[in-house]
Amino acid sequence: MSSVRPVVVPANPLRLEVMALHAYHVAPASGMIKLDAMENPYVLPQDLRDEIARLVADAEINRYPDAGAQLLKAEIRRVSNLPHGMDILLGNGSDEIIQLLALAVARPGAVLLSVEPSFVMYKMISTFVGMRYVGVPLDDDFSLNRKAMLDAIRQEQPALVFLAYPNNPTGNLFDAATIKQIIEAAPGLVVVDEAYYAFARDSFIPHLAHYDNLLVMRTFSKLGMAGLRLGFLAGAKAWLNQLEKLRLPYNVGVLSQLVAVKLLQHHDVLLEQAERIKQQRARLLAALNTVVGVRTYSSEANFILFRVAKATQVFEGLKQRGVLIKNLNSGHPALTDCLRVTVGTPDENRSFVVALQDTINQLA
Ligand SMILES: *Cc1c(COP(=O)(O)O)cnc(C)c1O
Repeated sequence: MSSVRPVVVPANPLRLEVMALHAYHVAPASGMIKLDAMENPYVLPQDLRDEIARLVADAEINRYPDAGAQLLKAEIRRVSNLPHGMDILLGNGSDEIIQLLALAVARPGAVLLSVEPSFVMYKMISTFVGMRYVGVPLDDDFSLNRKAMLDAIRQEQPALVFLAYPNNPTGNLFDAATIKQIIEAAPGLVVVDEAYYAFARDSFIPHLAHYDNLLVMRTFSKLGMAGLRLGFLAGAKAWLNQLEKLRLPYNVGVLSQLVAVKLLQHHDVLLEQAERIKQQRARLLAALNTVVGVRTYSSEANFILFRVAKATQVFEGLKQRGVLIKNLNSGHPALTDCLRVTVGTPDENRSFVVALQDTINQLA
């Protein structure tokens, strides 16, 4: 008698929480003035672009990259003023580092804690790895609610806390003394996410040596390398040696390594562009403040959050006029009627303000 094979029922093996997710939305931007994604709007000087072209032409793309990315790490160390004894872990963008950190701590029941509104990937990645996410509401002015944070930490005992400093999408720096209290109260790791460090007055890198459970994460995306996908985590060797085990080999490609090393050797060029962006941020803020019906929030980043009546219609009106910004309305309740604009070139910012004024006039 031949054995009967079990009937194979086609089943959907996907996790329910994955099916319930909404994919991270990237709006099509072809032909638009693109002020939605916090990119640096300036191109590199021609001589630097020529150097990069030669580097890329000679790159050994048939070989795997340097797995330890030694040259790149040395340049990052040099430009970031890391305290003695601190090490670096590289990510394919800092998003990858958030995921790696979450993977490392995702024991059953483990909690990832952040604030709301903040960077949406913290919550999404909690779901990816099966962690419980806790979002503590910010105060109405988007500052940290110290009591709520300390209470939540005591109650939830989070394995991982993320604080974006400056915060995205609100643009403010949180109170540094409160962050220090959070680090001291937290039973697990606290990651200060400094994606916008180049535009901000303060950093937690100098404090790394003072706190055993503090890590600082940065990306080069907002400084002008969004296309390269490169971020890093800085902290004590003891932590980073463990986290390195989860980093996929060769996560930063040959071309990203070569080009980033070259750009960091010309860090002054990027810092000068960041300086121009900061100057434009002040002008854009002043211009927005002259538009009747617009309420702005001051920013330490390369974008400005603002509130306006009929925000979604304003967003659509801007789009029709060829300007793409970010619509935050109908996301988090604290962001009702909020839009976020990235600081562009002087021309782009002017076009945006004209289009905004025109749209608001038409809607009135
Ligand atoms: C943009 C951003 C990141 C991610 O940047 P990558 O491009 O993945 O390096 C991380 N955190 C915050 C707060 C951001 O705004």
